[in-house]
Amino acid sequence: MTEFILLLMFFVLLCLLIAPVRRKLLTRPIFNRMRKSLPTMSQTEREALEAGNTWWDAELFTGKPDWSKLNDLPAARLSKREQNFLIGPVETLCTMLDDWDITHKRRDLPAEVWDFIKQHKFCGMIIPKNYGGLQFSDYAHSQVVMKIASRSTTAAVTVMVPNSLGPAKLLLAYGSEQQKNHYLPRLADGLEIPAFALTGPQAGSDAGAMPDTGVICYGTFQGKEQVLGIRLNWEKRYITLGPVATVLGLAFKLYDPDHLLGETEDIGITVALIPTDTPGVSIGKRHFPLDSGFQNGPNWGKDVFIPMDWIIGGAEQAGQGWKMLMQCLATGRAISLPALSVGAAKFVCRNSGAYARIRTQFNLPLGAFEGIEEVLARMAGTTYLMDAARHITCAALDEGQKPAVISAILKYQLTESMRRIINDGMDIQGGSGICLGPSNFIGRLYQIIPVGITVEGANILTRTMMIFGQGSVRCHPYIQREMQALSNNDQSRALLEFDTVLWRHIGFFLKNLTRGFCFGLGASRLAKTPGNKHTRRYYQHLTRLSTGFALTADFALLSLGGQLKRKERISGRLADVLSYLYLCSCTLKHYENQGSLTDDLPLLQWACQYSLYRAQQSLLATFRLLPLRLPSILLRSLLFPLGKPCKPPQDRLVGQLAKLLLQENESRNRLTAGIYINENPNDPSGRIECAFKAVHAAAEASQKLSVAQKQGILAKGPIISVINDALELNIINQFEADLITQAEQYKTEAIKVDDFDAAELRITDA
Ligand SMILES: Cc1cc2nc3c(=O)[nH]c(=O)nc-3n(C[C@H](O)[C@H](O)[C@H](O)COP(=O)(O)OP(=O)(O)OC[C@H]3O[C@@H](n4cnc5c(N)ncnc54)[C@H](O)[C@@H]3O)c2cc1C
Repeated sequence: MTEFILLLMFFVLLCLLIAPVRRKLLTRPIFNRMRKSLPTMSQTEREALEAGNTWWDAELFTGKPDWSKLNDLPAARLSKREQNFLIGPVETLCTMLDDWDITHKRRDLPAEVWDFIKQHKFCGMIIPKNYGGLQFSDYAHSQVVMKIASRSTTAAVTVMVPNSLGPAKLLLAYGSEQQKNHYLPRLADGLEIPAFALTGPQAGSDAGAMPDTGVICYGTFQGKEQVLGIRLNWEKRYITLGPVATVLGLAFKLYDPDHLLGETEDIGITVALIPTDTPGVSIGKRHFPLDSGFQNGPNWGKDVFIPMDWIIGGAEQAGQGWKMLMQCLATGRAISLPALSVGAAKFVCRNSGAYARIRTQFNLPLGAFEGIEEVLARMAGTTYLMDAARHITCAALDEGQKPAVISAILKYQLTESMRRIINDGMDIQGGSGICLGPSNFIGRLYQIIPVGITVEGANILTRTMMIFGQGSVRCHPYIQREMQALSNNDQSRALLEFDTVLWRHIGFFLKNLTRGFCFGLGASRLAKTPGNKHTRRYYQHLTRLSTGFALTADFALLSLGGQLKRKERISGRLADVLSYLYLCSCTLKHYENQGSLTDDLPLLQWACQYSLYRAQQSLLATFRLLPLRLPSILLRSLLFPLGKPCKPPQDRLVGQLAKLLLQENESRNRLTAGIYINENPNDPSGRIECAFKAVHAAAEASQKLSVAQKQGILAKGPIISVINDALELNIINQFEADLITQAEQYKTEAIKVDDFDAAELRITDA
């Protein structure tokens, strides 16, 4: 028996070492099988897959991330000019914004706000200076959107769209010089309001299936006959800024049935710039997205004739539209929606945290109750995680990266985290969050949560299809090369290429298997990582989980092949693992970028423990779904021989993080840095800020009264009712009495809820 096994091993080794034998006996059968099962991929799918590049996501896919690549990334910084813009025009714009007036009364931005936005070139942040724009870094762009979002989502969306997915982005990347010279200065100055029209009634998530057409033909244009151009017919909906747009970036499918351009009839998705006053264009009425005030609506065109040079980049870019959109969406997705989400999260953390300090029930601030502490801790820790991911991703973008998978991770994770934080904030606010009115600072944010989640393909799709689907091809060190080899029509070349990549891939798998087992036995300690006494364990767990992820991803691809595309429960879980590993990496880097401050340790610890635990649980959940039961159980045991290494955030952190939001301190200021903060007692968030400060100023004096009440020196009851007695008994002095009185006044104002005449509400309904 032993001899037989040895003989077999010798034979296999021989096969592996002698390339022609290996190819014939081992590679060819695998090659033939995989070639048959290779999923068919449409042109649009291929272009979506190839958009952008890979970065830290690819490192996580190797199972052996090279930490120097992340640690060498310079921290995102603002130039003096960008800082001045934030403390100048952005601050002024925020002061001008009254969200209740915008969302309830006008359902639009006031004319002076529109003018201010145009005058200060808010829509031209990404446009270079030589075209009259602001030419801001991606980080500055993110800071601007984040700050505005902490004041008014309507204004943030209005500014966001032209900078992230409007025609400017497409023109900069693909436009002809003539188009750039014409449009970019006008877009920067707000003389043109752009909208980007992709989605239609029949094509939402599957935008590539749009029925909108353009047919190449001769027509009459501006009085000139026999002009070569395109006759367009389309119907679009949900188009942001559509109702006020002067120019549409329109996506349609282009056909050339009469072969006026060449041999190809079905040219493919194309994007053109269409002035909205072109004959045949109809700009419909407005949609009403969840009580917000931003402009959004349908539009359509009937037999609209345009010349060929309205295609972005001219006739030679005909059919390149999907690639253009995917490339441009990929970077935009990493900036605007994450900035909006972090702006909302920071705003709610600061204000609902303060509210939990101001509002007392059962004679104690809400924040003193353990149940509320848990919620506050979750809010603070999640906001830290989100902001870390935003900072690090912007830094990578500013260094020239265009990571498509990471942009999907950011969009999915940050909009979902925003949803959880606003929900938590709503719970803390109780009735004051629910009753809408000019004093309610959170109700409108709650209403608008799904907008960020739904745009650019709702999160279900982002999670289950985009992150792992794209990641497994783009970030995996071998899959894309194997697919290329398999689809090569030259059989013998294809086999040679496939043979080289396949065996490297198998070596990679075996190395990860060994590493994964060793890391498991050594409780992650064998992983060589950077870090200090506070961070090294997190780096080690992260490296270990990255190995586990790489192995499991390989195993899923091997066992399911092309079917994995439809197994969204598996790809969704793997997307979660990759997402949390990315978020945790960013957290460590962000903490170090901020100087590894001891005060921020609880934030770092909570965020790392939470994300590592979630990554681990998602990985374990994947094993339950994998088809080859015995091998998958073996793989799981091999990766986790001593049980689960990561636990949920420690309980001791809950009190520390809650305190961080309930008191005035530098960590709280750092956590909420960059949002709009005001101390106007008549403003919905300003009055919370005022009350919070006043309550702290009076805390010591108020404590003296509480103690005296407990000792029976002062009568029981509201603090305000015993101030005079306390003065008479010299428990407090006049200065302290004034502090308490002021704090009580501000508190009363801060907890007020609006009410309306029945008639006022009827006007809203009308
Ligand atoms: C306020 C707002 C602003 C917008 N602005 C613009 C704009 O400016 N320009 C523009 O072109 N478009 C815009 N959109 C459109 C937006 O991008 C689409 O709404 C989005 O892509 C989803 O399309 P849909 O609403 O038709 O949903 P559907 O495609 O009908 O999807 C419904 C649900 O099914 C899920 N789903 C679909 N397919 C799958 C799948 N294979 N696996 C798992 N889940 C799946 C989706 O994730 C979603 O949760 C906007 C939308 C809104 C609401």
